[in-house]
Amino acid sequence: MVAISHDTKIQYLKGVGPKIGAKLNKLGIFVVRDLLYYFPRRYEDYTQISKIGDLQIPNSKSQITNKFQNLNYQKDETRTIRARVIGIANKITKKRGFTITEAVVADGSGSIKIVWFNQPYLVKMLPVGSEVILNGKISYDFITRRIIMESPTRADKPKIVPVYGETVGLSSYLISRQIARLRQNFGGQVNLKEFLPERIIKQNQLLDINQAVLNIHQPENRAMLNRATERLKFDELFLLSLRALLSRVETEKKIAPNIKIEEKLLKKFTSNLPFELTEDQKISAWRIICDLQKSSPMNRMLCGDVGSGKTVVATFASFVAILAGYRVVMMAPTEILAEQHYKTCTGILSKFGISIGLITANSYRVSGMGYNDKIKDQKPDTKYLIHNTKNLKLVEKTDLIIGTHALLQDKILFKNIGLVIVDEQHKFGVKQRQKLTQLFIGNDQTKKLSPHFLSMTATPIPRTLYLALFSDLDLSTIKTMPAGRKNIDTKVVNESNRERSYKFIRNEIEKGRQAFVVCPLIEIKTDGKGLLDNKITGQELFEQERKSVVAEYEKLDKKIFPDLKIGMLHGKMKSKEKEAVMTNFKNKKLDILVSTSVVEVGIDVPNATIMMIEDAERFGLATLHQFRGRVGRSKYQSYCFLFSSTKNPVAVNRLRAMEQTNDGFKLAEIDLKNRGAGDMFGTLQSGEVNLKIASFSDNILIEKANESAKEIIVDGIDKYPALIEKIKQIESTRHME
Ligand code: ADP
Ligand code: MG
Repeated sequence: MVAISHDTKIQYLKGVGPKIGAKLNKLGIFVVRDLLYYFPRRYEDYTQISKIGDLQIPNSKSQITNKFQNLNYQKDETRTIRARVIGIANKITKKRGFTITEAVVADGSGSIKIVWFNQPYLVKMLPVGSEVILNGKISYDFITRRIIMESPTRADKPKIVPVYGETVGLSSYLISRQIARLRQNFGGQVNLKEFLPERIIKQNQLLDINQAVLNIHQPENRAMLNRATERLKFDELFLLSLRALLSRVETEKKIAPNIKIEEKLLKKFTSNLPFELTEDQKISAWRIICDLQKSSPMNRMLCGDVGSGKTVVATFASFVAILAGYRVVMMAPTEILAEQHYKTCTGILSKFGISIGLITANSYRVSGMGYNDKIKDQKPDTKYLIHNTKNLKLVEKTDLIIGTHALLQDKILFKNIGLVIVDEQHKFGVKQRQKLTQLFIGNDQTKKLSPHFLSMTATPIPRTLYLALFSDLDLSTIKTMPAGRKNIDTKVVNESNRERSYKFIRNEIEKGRQAFVVCPLIEIKTDGKGLLDNKITGQELFEQERKSVVAEYEKLDKKIFPDLKIGMLHGKMKSKEKEAVMTNFKNKKLDILVSTSVVEVGIDVPNATIMMIEDAERFGLATLHQFRGRVGRSKYQSYCFLFSSTKNPVAVNRLRAMEQTNDGFKLAEIDLKNRGAGDMFGTLQSGEVNLKIASFSDNILIEKANESAKEIIVDGIDKYPALIEKIKQIESTRHME
């Protein structure tokens, strides 16, 4: 038998083997170390024992109607009791033949009835007179008018039992048994190497890593479990912060094109705009222009609500870089958006003699410099278009290249790029962003320069999130909207008011306005334990989405508004079809556009005044806020209807926040508290910001972790080899995933 180390492959452990090994792999567990870092999802706590007599029993009628109000616990709350079995028996239900096991247990302060379903063997395992610790849900039995405990789990002594996330054929028990074996193997320890500097451990009063990992799996008691959790949360947040800060240090070492511009040229740009820039736009633009003059690359994120006018700031930056003799690349997440930027930029920049190109999977155009739209939609294949030498020459000459991720194709090498801009950066995954930077860095063979980098997002970044995730970026925020924007009247609408809302929409359309209808995914299949069904593919998701849009479209088209013109948009449509629908909507040939959430509604249709969202509770507030931002772009009053039939008070309150504020930041904070960060960034990116144990609302811990990470940077990471090793390890596992 080979000695077991942290790097031992999981299938070589006794009791694992290839079959279970493969299942563990699915949970991200490949080697022993991963297993040690696979933390329980929750705990069954058999240490906080209640007296049965303290579990109050309602006795009057009014107490029964408010059955849970007068008890000192919430509905569905679980309690632990330690009691002796007084009686136990099985019953078979007449109808379906289920077995119900009923027991009465007592602890000296009182007695309580216990009910289990389909576990007949319990009668043998818990004979009359045996003592047992039970942890289960308290509920009220209307017939006997007494409280009962339902389907409790049990333990033989007071302890805290970990419950791990399971997949099919892999139980929590199996994992906890393997952990126990590992511990035995390591002589009662887990033998992890401490990577945090002593000073940081002391300052933050943390457990050492071995104590922490031991106690997260097999807690000695509540207090140790809490301290273990704190240490591991700290680690997670600290390492995130540290990695972001290290990447900032790396960026600062690189050399960027030095972009200088005369002030009078800046005036030339602003005086040619059809509007005056807002104060925040001016400040952001100024910061960017200052960054461009530095010798190390800018890495800045421009945040601002939908419609706050980020594009013009990006166009300004492009103008500056191009006049200084460099070329600019701008990447957008969808064709529709790329197309829109192409038009906006052409409108603003072509009068300065700047040429602009559009590259998507379906079209390739260049305007300006006398070759206006010379090559237009030749063939729907970017590779072909680019590799055509004549086209490549054109691309190489174009000052500003706008495109979708079609730009990321391997062999497109652009020379002399001074600035790279990514719009709606949260829509791209890490891999795409990395590829983008790699594509251009050192691309200029002669000078080995790294271009400046500007990303834009409509997702407001709360401070904690910034500290934990994005401290490698400088942040600029556009808080105020361009003048003349109206508040959007927002209403949460329940089923009973649906008809009225349709009437209202009809009325608006008769006045000449238009409406968006957004549908969410049809319920995603889960395995019953809340885990996403592994078998579901991206294709299936698209298919489900198509179904939900088609169903909504047909309902509106046939039943509700048979006389109106309705169009639909979903991810399974061909780009050409999508574009045609968008254009029709823009040109008022359609009254209502039914669409999915994945298809970016990022188009500017000022005449649309209604945004109606189905099953609104399924979306994060930040997303809802972005949808809402699609209306309210004209002199007409706009409306946002959030349809929801949820009765869940938390969900309803969340939606009510939309009625109460138009402030994207406030909404993001609420989201962060209620649903975590995944929601803010959408499914595409949620994997990258998935925390195992910490949460982005652990404000105090985030501040501490960030402070500690900064200390390391100031001190120089080279002094901390164990920390360097730890980071390398994290990065190598990330690659494997
Ligand atoms: P976003 O921040 O969502 O990308 P856009 O850049 O698309 O916003 O701007 C939304 C609209 O506001 C555009 O039609 C743009 O022309 C207009 N706009 C931008 N800045 C101003 C301004 N300072 N004054 C008036 N309108 C503006
Ligand atoms: Mg935009």
